[in-house]
Amino acid sequence: MDTPLCFGCGKAAQDDFILCGQYLCPECELEMIKTDMANPKYQEWLKLWREFWDKLPSESEENEDI
Ligand SMILES: [Zn+2]
Repeated sequence: MDTPLCFGCGKAAQDDFILCGQYLCPECELEMIKTDMANPKYQEWLKLWREFWDKLPSESEENEDI
């Protein structure tokens, strides 16, 4: 099995936050949450998110609210 890598910073992950088989480390999660939309870094996060969603299996296209 491959070690999951954080899609935010690319670090090897522990298994504490896995989103649809992809990993975001707690530091990146926190950083993303606290990044203001007016912050240019927010655009970087959006880009990472798009790449992240692109990698998701297509069956997750269904919008299921949990
Ligand atoms: Zn990270």
